[in-house]
Amino acid sequence: MELTDTDRANIERARKVGAGLGLVLNPDTARTLKVATLLARNFAEFGKYYCPCKQSHPLDPAKDVVCPCPTLKDELAKDGHCFCRLYYTPEAAARAQSEPGCCGR
Ligand code: SF4
Repeated sequence: MELTDTDRANIERARKVGAGLGLVLNPDTARTLKVATLLARNFAEFGKYYCPCKQSHPLDPAKDVVCPCPTLKDELAKDGHCFCRLYYTPEAAARAQSEPGCCGR
C-alpha cells in the first residue's frame, strides 16, 4: 500500500496516542489508515478528534465522543480492541496478525 506523507503523519499520531495507553495499532494497515484519516479529518473540521465510528451524522459536538473514548477500557476488556478496531492490546494484535486474511494477505 502506497502511503502519502499525510497518511504516515496521521498513523504516527495515532501510534503515539496508543503507545501512551500501552496499546498498539491494528496490524491491518488499511483499517488503521482509514480510521486515522477520519480522525484527522474530524480534527481539521471540528477541532477535536471525534471518533469516526461513533459519531452522529451530522456530527454533534455536544454528544459525540472524542478519541480515546470513555468506553475504550471496556471494549479492550471485551474484544482486545476498540470499537473502531484502531487500538489493540499487544496480545490481541499478535493474534489478529496471525489470522489468515489479516493485513491484506
Ligand atoms: S473506538 Fe474509541 S479509541 Fe477507538 S478510534 Fe473510536 S474513539 Fe478512538
